[in-house]
Amino acid sequence: MRKAFDIFLVYLLICAIAYAGIYSGKVVATAYPVYKLIQQSRIVSKVDQYNEYKEVQTKHFIIKYTDADAKYIELIERVAEDSYNRVGRDMGYYPTKKINMVVFHSRTVMRESLSLPKGDDAMGVYLNGVIGILSPGLWIADKKHIDEIFWKDGPVLHEYTHFVVDDIARGNYPIWLTEGIALNEEFRLNNYKWGEGYAYKKGPYSIKELTSDFNRLDEVLAYKRSFEILNYISNKYGNSKIVGILKKLGAGRTLDSAFKDVLGVSIDAVDIDSR
Ligand SMILES: [Zn+2]
Repeated sequence: MRKAFDIFLVYLLICAIAYAGIYSGKVVATAYPVYKLIQQSRIVSKVDQYNEYKEVQTKHFIIKYTDADAKYIELIERVAEDSYNRVGRDMGYYPTKKINMVVFHSRTVMRESLSLPKGDDAMGVYLNGVIGILSPGLWIADKKHIDEIFWKDGPVLHEYTHFVVDDIARGNYPIWLTEGIALNEEFRLNNYKWGEGYAYKKGPYSIKELTSDFNRLDEVLAYKRSFEILNYISNKYGNSKIVGILKKLGAGRTLDSAFKDVLGVSIDAVDIDSR
């Protein structure tokens, strides 16, 4: 298991409200892209306030970093482009606009720029269109094998997958869905399996529990269950169906109706069959 959890932050009030049932998915899917753009420029300008950030552009990414991470930047560029290509091939989706990524050399600056809760020890975060990663130098102790460790256990592919999900579904999705998709891509592409060796005490969480209470559930087991559901869907129906579901969500549909339309079964049936 990883030293630290990644965080997918739903700082989206509108999203929370939608899942409380006050707004429809249509409102979220329409309003979110605008909200995301505003928040994205807010985060990037917050990072720019620290002055020492430099910028490098690759084919698909705009990466900000400090001098302390100059020695890692080529590695980060390669892993970012590799994630773009491999997730793209595996899911059949390639974002068209360049993606903002920030490499933080300080946990404090990362926390402040992304408004993370105090005491949080994430090594990667996806928030409103921006991928934030902690410098590999800060969490990889084995400096001789930094390349291969960052490649396989690093946060880039996972956080990039969150970006893809958000890009397609336009903010209209529950956390477990994006976590499950990100963990499933890590499994398919990096052979990294989440939650191995962790057993459910009272049986797996239901999709209903994951949807309404994700942040209050046991963290490892909630991630584990999200992974199992998405792994089941991708094995049984194929990854293109997952993108199909995300597209329906992006058009403002509810999760249940998207499941029925794309998979031909209800979300409850998937919940039972994936156990
Ligand atoms: Zn995540």
